[in-house]
Amino acid sequence: MERAPVEGRATVGAMIDRVVGAPVAADRAANHLAAAVGRLAAAVDQPVAVVDHLVAAVDQPVAAADPPVAEVDPPEAAVDPPVVAVDPLAVEVKGVVPSGVGVVESVAEPTSLIVAIDGTSGVGKSTVAGLLAARLEVPMLDTGATYRSVALKVLESGTDLDDRTAVIAAAAQAELKLQPAADGGFEVLLDGRPVGQRIRTPKVSDATSRISVHPEIRQRLVEVQRQTAARYGAVVEGRDIGSVVFPRTPHKFFLYARPQVRAERRHAQLVAAGEAPSLSAVLRNIEERDDRDSRREASPLVCDESYYPIDTSDLSVAEIVERMVEEIDRKRQGRAPAAV
Ligand code: C5P
Repeated sequence: MERAPVEGRATVGAMIDRVVGAPVAADRAANHLAAAVGRLAAAVDQPVAVVDHLVAAVDQPVAAADPPVAEVDPPEAAVDPPVVAVDPLAVEVKGVVPSGVGVVESVAEPTSLIVAIDGTSGVGKSTVAGLLAARLEVPMLDTGATYRSVALKVLESGTDLDDRTAVIAAAAQAELKLQPAADGGFEVLLDGRPVGQRIRTPKVSDATSRISVHPEIRQRLVEVQRQTAARYGAVVEGRDIGSVVFPRTPHKFFLYARPQVRAERRHAQLVAAGEAPSLSAVLRNIEERDDRDSRREASPLVCDESYYPIDTSDLSVAEIVERMVEEIDRKRQGRAPAAV
């Protein structure tokens, strides 16, 4: 059958449509994608595995009438001869073969270690994630920085944060790049310039939790986060890492702490950075953000039984990291959980 090539910025839904040659209902998309990749592998006589990463993306609940469920990078030049190697965590659409079938190329070792850390603000996620990443010898990805950078762009454009359409349009103008940094993390470049401390002000914090309620903004950032983390293996911290970005990693931690403790920690950080907000204002800001992050419709902050929860209120950073390393080792060695 003659099929048109996939051109420009494709969605997984669109890609599946092209590969199977007929529109598919979104709830069948995962099966179609797996079948299509199988056919593709047979056509080029290469081994194939399940495309977990894309299947996870198309598994997201979507209306049947709205097949574009997740964006993938634009297929660039057609690859000849086509390469098919599919790994469970990271795939990238690299191009199209002349028949128009999408070519999927592996971008990471299947064994890449992904550790997901989710939790509310001020629980010490970034500090813990940085130290854990150093212990595990993988980079640390602070996904909050990507949302903050988009919020900075929206604020700088002077957009009214209550105007949904305008916010989404302003966010779409943000050109984001994550580049490995000397401290073992990633530097966010916004429109080619490092964002640095510009994204760490209370105003940006507040705007961030407001703009991150929009699924249109989240989808794009999730894709950037997946590709970056899966390429290197990473400790990834945020709000939806174990639930949406890497739902299949076995290493998921949920950090929480009493609000007062969190406010004191965040206050100390702000004072150290030269700001002088009152403790009560910091507490109020934290509680408002928690509320928005937990109650939003798109990817709310949730802890389910797939997570290992840790109350960090009365633990030192070293104790938290130690507990996580033990749990990761235990999972990797297939041992039973420690008695609590
Ligand atoms: O972690 P951090 O405080 O930098 O996150 C800032 C805000 O970014 C959060 O309050 C939340 O609204 C948003 N965020 C998110 N999903 C993530 C990471 C951050 O919605 N994975």
